[in-house]
Amino acid sequence: MAGIYIHIPFCNKKCYYCDFYSITNLKNKDYFIKALIKEISLKKNYLKNNKITTLYFGGGTPTILNISDLKKIINKIHKTFDLSKLKEFTIEANPENLTKDYINKIKQ
Ligand code: SF4
Repeated sequence: MAGIYIHIPFCNKKCYYCDFYSITNLKNKDYFIKALIKEISLKKNYLKNNKITTLYFGGGTPTILNISDLKKIINKIHKTFDLSKLKEFTIEANPENLTKDYINKIKQ
């Protein structure tokens, strides 16, 4: 059994007390997502014989990503690793980014 943590390093603003790595400039977001998807492929063998039980998106503020970007990442993880025993899927969120529609689309 294993868990996967995905760090999304973008925030709407940088809180003065925060030590986590994050930036507010989104100009490289698309490059980041492409690189992350490549990194997931490169890690395929690392978790080869493991069933993933937890998938955690932290940051940063993962909900700063639009649904399409999030789904690209989740679909890649789904295709790369064995999620048949997934028990927990967590995503850190900024309430300002959340709508009912966004939450419902994440669940699909
Ligand atoms: S990760 Fe959270 S606490 Fe840190 S800067 Fe972003 S919103 Fe603020």
